[in-house]
Amino acid sequence: MTRRRQIYEGKAKILYEGPEPGTIVQYFKDDATAGNGAKKGTITGKGVLNNRISEYLMTQIEDIGIPTHFIRRLNMREQLVKAVEIIPLEIVVRNVAAGSIVKRLGLEEGVRLPRPLVEYYLKNDELNDPLVLEDYITAFNWATVQEMDEIVTYTLRINDFLSGLLLGVGIKLIDFKLEFGRYWKDEESHIVLADEISPDNCRFWDIESGEKLDKDRFRRDLGKVEEAYQEVARRLKILPESNVESIKGKGPESI
Ligand code: C5P
Repeated sequence: MTRRRQIYEGKAKILYEGPEPGTIVQYFKDDATAGNGAKKGTITGKGVLNNRISEYLMTQIEDIGIPTHFIRRLNMREQLVKAVEIIPLEIVVRNVAAGSIVKRLGLEEGVRLPRPLVEYYLKNDELNDPLVLEDYITAFNWATVQEMDEIVTYTLRINDFLSGLLLGVGIKLIDFKLEFGRYWKDEESHIVLADEISPDNCRFWDIESGEKLDKDRFRRDLGKVEEAYQEVARRLKILPESNVESIKGKGPESI
């Protein structure tokens, strides 16, 4: 068996060269980190669940007319995606105060914000992904004004759409992080949604109890981390109960 060429290994995913030119295989790991790698651990079954959750949400987003990098899921831990040139920004949308905005502005966690707030962070581990201004983005050519217009329009539509979809399954979308890329076709570049959408990069709270159903359970040592990821998958009806049990402990060797 020939080994595939690894392109990149991140904190939660590995990217391999895809079977056809212009494609990439995105492999989801169980590894979890917090505080830019300061805290490390494993969330059993996370890779399998995030692969499915992200597949489901990306497909739904594509269906409302927003282009994504997602092509198809390959197996339990892998999906085939379009090779894109990643824009070096993390786009965060916040509906409710939580996480870093609480610390930065001294807000009370859980307070609904006056309107959805969009923030930009530079993807740079050495600098701890600093918050940046749109003026920096265009001045340093990280993205053009036209690309940013498209990114913000897509981001706000995704926020509205996902907020509604999740509300339907009893989940409040507190905030989330998106990444976008440039997809080259016929010598023209198009903005597409990239990376993943999962409890690793979203804050999901149960609508009734306010219980956290996302990576904050790992970041803050709240316990029941695996169960939270399973609960999101269960509510989205993408993994029947029996499958949730059977994915536990499945590692790279078993796919
Ligand atoms: O930590 P902070 O409150 O700024 O995070 C906002 C949102 O962005 C959260 O949903 C978090 O999971 C996500 N995020 C992420 N990757 C980062 C930083 C934040 O997915 N490097």
